[in-house]
Amino acid sequence: MIERIILARAHDLGGLIVGRVLPTAQRRSIGPFVFLDHMGPAKFEPGAGFDVRPHPHIGLATLTYLFEGEQIHRDSLGTMQPIRPLDVNLMISGRGITHSERATAAMREHGGGMHGLQFWLALPEHEEDCAPSFHHADACDLPLIEDEGFRGRVAVGSCAGKDSPIVFPAPAMLVDLSIDESAEAVIPLEQHEYGVYVADGAVMIDDTLLPARTLAVLERASEVRMRAHEPSRVAVFGGLPLEKPRKMYWNFVATDDARIERAKEDWRDRRFPVIPGDDVEFIPLPET
Ligand code: MN
Repeated sequence: MIERIILARAHDLGGLIVGRVLPTAQRRSIGPFVFLDHMGPAKFEPGAGFDVRPHPHIGLATLTYLFEGEQIHRDSLGTMQPIRPLDVNLMISGRGITHSERATAAMREHGGGMHGLQFWLALPEHEEDCAPSFHHADACDLPLIEDEGFRGRVAVGSCAGKDSPIVFPAPAMLVDLSIDESAEAVIPLEQHEYGVYVADGAVMIDDTLLPARTLAVLERASEVRMRAHEPSRVAVFGGLPLEKPRKMYWNFVATDDARIERAKEDWRDRRFPVIPGDDVEFIPLPET
């Protein structure tokens, strides 16, 4: 059932420690998912806050899902959207978007925790240059899958006949699953590529115990069966495999190197659209 196990590696994003789960040398994608950072858990003192300054994306959708904390998303479409625990943000960059993610004023003033997941999904090749768009769902709008000992929220796509209001333009699914100690959860899958990421706790798949901050890449199957050794939080995600591998450089994803080179020049020469109200600061293109 498990094809491979991947451990999150710690990265310092300037004050916020993240666990980088995808990509790795051994595994570049799971369905359309090409990137996963486990953000925190972190505590911010009053007055500290955090700022991911304006930066560009092409060829992907960013998917943000918080367990704790809150932040403000702003983008060059003029969107200004707070995201709170168990809300979903899906930003489709298409041919190009600029966004920032900053602590809310309340979080900056009073401090607080931050814990969540950020995924990137590669857009289908024929959608890489589509118009950018932004999609938000409140936690209360996500359908639930419940059975004895577990509760799942369908954050993206469809699972067990329940449809999230957040739809990606290719078959893709994300379910946020809470499993009680000693309980078993069974989640139906399509015959695509899926991973199970243990954000918290420890779960058993077949005879393999997966501790927190571990990703199990699954073999193709019609379901995944997980037993929790302690109260656990897992993300089950995946979908239709990419038809072609993707090139990735910094915040850019494309099927074609030339497209990435053009995006680098466009960001360096300030040709990306700016964010209304957040157009002063920016993250420069990395030199290497
Ligand atoms: Mn970003």
